[in-house]
Amino acid sequence: MGLLYTRMKIFHFKEKIDSLPASVDKILAPVHIRIKPTNTCNHNCWYCAYRTDNLQLGKDMVVKDRIPREKMLEIIDDIDEMGVKSITFSGGGEPFCYPYLLDVVRKLSRTQVKFASLTNGSLLNGELAEVFAHNGTWLRVSMDGWDDESYSAYRGTKDKGFTEVMENMEDFKKLNGKCYLGVCIIVDRKNASHIYELAKRLKGIGIDSVKIAPCLVSNSGRESNEYHKPIFQQVREEIVRITGEFGDKEFEVFDSYHSQLETFEKEYNWCPYIQILSVIGADLNVYSCQDKAYNIKEGLIGSIKNMRFKDFWFSDKNKFFKVDPSIHCAHHCVADAKNKIVLEYLNADREHLAFV
Ligand code: SF4
Repeated sequence: MGLLYTRMKIFHFKEKIDSLPASVDKILAPVHIRIKPTNTCNHNCWYCAYRTDNLQLGKDMVVKDRIPREKMLEIIDDIDEMGVKSITFSGGGEPFCYPYLLDVVRKLSRTQVKFASLTNGSLLNGELAEVFAHNGTWLRVSMDGWDDESYSAYRGTKDKGFTEVMENMEDFKKLNGKCYLGVCIIVDRKNASHIYELAKRLKGIGIDSVKIAPCLVSNSGRESNEYHKPIFQQVREEIVRITGEFGDKEFEVFDSYHSQLETFEKEYNWCPYIQILSVIGADLNVYSCQDKAYNIKEGLIGSIKNMRFKDFWFSDKNKFFKVDPSIHCAHHCVADAKNKIVLEYLNADREHLAFV
């Protein structure tokens, strides 16, 4: 298997990169779209970025919003016709709580569009699991608790919630599909001393990869660093141990647990990734990215409530330049490093390109 988390994937879409600047009179389809089909969730995680008050993400989210079935099928038709390469379903809420997800992934399975989902894994069973297993590209299950008791304390779930998710994942792997199944362990102060045992159990049931990531408690990198300070060294050591003992070709360990930058300030004035990886919310708004989803003041690109996605996307390129990262994005940004690479490529002096 090649590199899954490389920042260089976009360079396989060179025509798209060259179309990005405002000065180019062309709009190409996004490569990847995140769709938030519903804002309803069957878990209640204390740190959920969409439900805590101190994070800008999700501040305008309405829990009861979900994309109507017919509108979702229209969006899928548009995405297929536009040549979008992939869709990831994510929250707002839990994508597997969306009542029409089975119809949607069945339809996607008949197109060239690749699909994936973030999920809590609690509803990963039945026909939906089968369609994902055989036609999806990847699933990533978020976890925090290491047994039934701790899992329900994190998520407010019923007694056997941890056991059920572990069984769902084990059964999913037994379907022998091509879909890659990963787990993201969200690390906070309570589970820091349990990530080794959790990773060991995940490897034992045949999970393909584990990503270890910090629980973000604030828009401020400094405050998140302070929160993680008492456990930081311990978690770093556990990750080295997990990688050394379990990491191999069948079980990838992806270390995403690191210090957040002291500030999240950006120095660039436009965001390439808005046109590369866009977000459609359950409120039928299109947002600049997943870090600004449900932030209408700073992240809204427009609405597709009364128009088709394809018509919205290909009209008026100015909408992609509403967000000025140097002013609006002084917070965590999943695309920051990728934006910088694309901007460096685009800003290379044309007269000097030949002097490689
Ligand atoms: S710079 Fe980052 S946070 Fe800002 S709009 Fe772009 S992807 Fe979103």
